[in-house]
Amino acid sequence: MNYKDSIKVLSEAIENLEVWLNSHPFNDFGAGEINSHQIKIVIDELSEKLKGNYPFQSGVYAGQMLKPPHPVAWIAQSLTSLINPNNHALDGGPPTSEMEKEVIPQFAQMFGYREPFLGHLTSSGTIANLEALWVSKCTHPQKGVAFSSQAHYTHRRMCEVLGIEAFEIPVDTSGKWDLDKLRKYADRIGTVVVTLGTTGLGRVEPLHEILPVCKELGIRIHADAAYGGYFKLLTDVNAASSDGSDSNPAIDPTPWQLTAKTDSIVIDPHKHGLQPYGCGCVLFKNPEVGKFYKHDSPYTYFSSEELHLGEISLECSRAGAAAASLWATLKLFPLRNNSPMVRVLGDCRSAALSFHDFIRKSMTFNLMETPELDIVCYYPAADTTSEISRLSKQIFSKGMQEKRLFLSLFKVSADFVISKNPDVKADTKEVTILRSVFMKPVHKNAAHHIFEELTALLDQVRNS
Ligand SMILES: *Cc1c(COP(=O)(O)O)cnc(C)c1O
Repeated sequence: MNYKDSIKVLSEAIENLEVWLNSHPFNDFGAGEINSHQIKIVIDELSEKLKGNYPFQSGVYAGQMLKPPHPVAWIAQSLTSLINPNNHALDGGPPTSEMEKEVIPQFAQMFGYREPFLGHLTSSGTIANLEALWVSKCTHPQKGVAFSSQAHYTHRRMCEVLGIEAFEIPVDTSGKWDLDKLRKYADRIGTVVVTLGTTGLGRVEPLHEILPVCKELGIRIHADAAYGGYFKLLTDVNAASSDGSDSNPAIDPTPWQLTAKTDSIVIDPHKHGLQPYGCGCVLFKNPEVGKFYKHDSPYTYFSSEELHLGEISLECSRAGAAAASLWATLKLFPLRNNSPMVRVLGDCRSAALSFHDFIRKSMTFNLMETPELDIVCYYPAADTTSEISRLSKQIFSKGMQEKRLFLSLFKVSADFVISKNPDVKADTKEVTILRSVFMKPVHKNAAHHIFEELTALLDQVRNS
């Protein structure tokens, strides 16, 4: 569907909604002087400014975790924002609160949580994780939180915000946790954060190895699946649509089979869930943690005895439009094996696998490791770590300046690179390498082009 068709759907929906809007006439925004011509001038200026973005929608953009939302999502969001409901109290947005209550069980079910559980949407993965760590503080007031050295930086920061101790567990070059270190601090740890899909390398941390240790030590487990969560849908090998080409996009189900045993999970619909920004989600297996959220608001919660979402979330106002957008998207992309969502994720994963194959076979680039999801890390072949960093940074800048290729950079330890490639000489402690997130289906056909541009860019920066 192109944007013109989407606009048509949106404008017909607005016409429909206008009947209701006009039944309670409202045309005074407090500045009656401003006419549509003036609005147009500002919006024209905006659309010019927006061209200053990198082409996130394109196959040549394989940098950060960014992509435009699906049309159904932005149509639903735009339409709903005409009314602007607030999912704080039920009377702030009755239909969108219902939608939120409808979508949460779909995520819970995907991860294997059974009724009763507790969950809600948040404005981001950061807030969703903050809530999970805050609940850890409530259940284990004297204890801290442990996460691996590859966890998102938000966990250390939120421990600071919450005033709880943070324990960083080292991982080896293959991603294995130093479980002895975890044992050593066990009596000071309330919750362990396991990242299912690390933001850097896209690794799925070995929940199956960590979980038994935590159960034995009486430590809670929080799964940060902000980025990786949707990939749970690709763990069913039969579901992953193998179109007979290259490699099977299915992923190793082992760690994912245990999500039901975690105490809380975070997933970001605004990463892989086709949503505009402003949509995270946190789930708790034990609904009793709801008691920590309980508070008495002198302003709200009067309309019904039923649970108001504001009573189980740290944030007060939350966009009803975000719930509407997610609800509408899940109608077309349900979290099931036979959903088009599986094809979307499968194409992203196939793109990453085919790109990784080009790198693996190439003489001029080296692969960091085989991608577990849709992130590939790699670097130009060179004798020293400083030269790898220099070339990576130059490829990154030149590709972007000339609008040919949009990648991202990632810093790793020199030891890590050398463990994979002993021929490299370490003359620095850290190395800057290249990182690409293949989170759009269009990447499937772009992988070869990206590799060719990359090779051309490397030639040019080597000779400059
Ligand atoms: C993106 C991400 C976060 C932070 O989520 P935001 O939605 O950006 O606030 C946390 N953890 C992981 C693993 C992530 O990938």
